[in-house]
Amino acid sequence: MFCPKCNGIQDIIKVHEAKDLATPRLCDVQCLECGYVVYYQPYDFGSTISLVPNNKELKQ
Ligand SMILES: [Zn+2]
Repeated sequence: MFCPKCNGIQDIIKVHEAKDLATPRLCDVQCLECGYVVYYQPYDFGSTISLVPNNKELKQ
């Protein structure tokens, strides 16, 4: 994630726990460059990546 103000790298400062498993978690992120904070960003990168093998494509 990158800062909308300066395009700097953002760091997660807080993770909001979801009410249930069906709700995606949100997090607050802060820019490492200018300190700009963005609230309630989706916190799904890295954890929900699932590689679905497509055997039909691989047969070729
Ligand atoms: Zn910034």
